[in-house]
Amino acid sequence: MVISEHPKDRSSIDHKELSVHCPYDCNMPVGVTLISIPDHNRVRRHGLTEVGAVYMCNGCKKPIYIRYSNALSSGNDVHAQDAFQVQRVRPVLKTGNVKSKNVKRDIEEALDCYSVEAWNGFASLCRRTIQSICDDHDVKGKAKVEKQVQTFTDNYDLDDEMKELLKEITLTGHDGAHPHLPAVSKERAEKLFAFMQEIVRQVYDLPSMLGASKKLRVDAVKEKAETKNQPVAA
Ligand SMILES: [Zn+2]
Repeated sequence: MVISEHPKDRSSIDHKELSVHCPYDCNMPVGVTLISIPDHNRVRRHGLTEVGAVYMCNGCKKPIYIRYSNALSSGNDVHAQDAFQVQRVRPVLKTGNVKSKNVKRDIEEALDCYSVEAWNGFASLCRRTIQSICDDHDVKGKAKVEKQVQTFTDNYDLDDEMKELLKEITLTGHDGAHPHLPAVSKERAEKLFAFMQEIVRQVYDLPSMLGASKKLRVDAVKEKAETKNQPVAA
C-alpha cells in the first residue's frame, strides 16, 4: 500500500505522483521523487507485468522501492498501476534511556513483528518486554508473569493507571501467545503500542529526566555559592 497514487489507473510511471510512509528516520507520510524506472525495452523483451521503480524520499533523500502491477511497455515508456510500497515501516519507540540490553532487544523484536503486521507475535513480545523490565528492576520471574508484575508494581509503588496498563499488556500478550484465546487484531496492537510507549516513558524516561533536572539544580546551587563565595542552602 502507498498513501496516494495519482493517477490511479494504468498510466506512465514517469508521470505518476506518489506519497508514501518514509521507512527511515522521517517515519511519516512524505512525497517521493522518481529516481530510477524500468527500461521499457527490457520490460517488452521479457514480457514483464510486474515492475519496480526506485524513488527518493523528499525528506531524507533515501531510496524507497515501489512495485507496480499490470505493467506494459508502451512506446518509449512503461505504463503500470497499483503502486505498492515493499519496504515495511517500523514504528518508532525511543529507547535512549533504557540501559538494559535485554529490554532493548525485546522492544526491537516487538517492533519488528509490528512492522510485518505479526500482531500475535507483537503482543507476545510486549509481554516478554514487561517481564524483562521487571527483571531489570530486580523483580525476577520464576512463577507466572502476573505475579512478577504484581511484585514490580508493589515494590515501586506504581499508581493504578500504570497497574492497569501493565495488566492490559500482559493480558493481550497472553492472547497473542495462546491459540485457544482470541487472536490479536491490528486495532488491539495499535493500542498496545501506545501502552508500551507510555510504560517506557514512565519507567525509564521520566526518572532519567528528573535525575538530570535535580543534577542541574545542584550544579546551579554550587555555582551560585562559588560566585558569592558563601554557602547557599540546597
Ligand atoms: Zn525520509
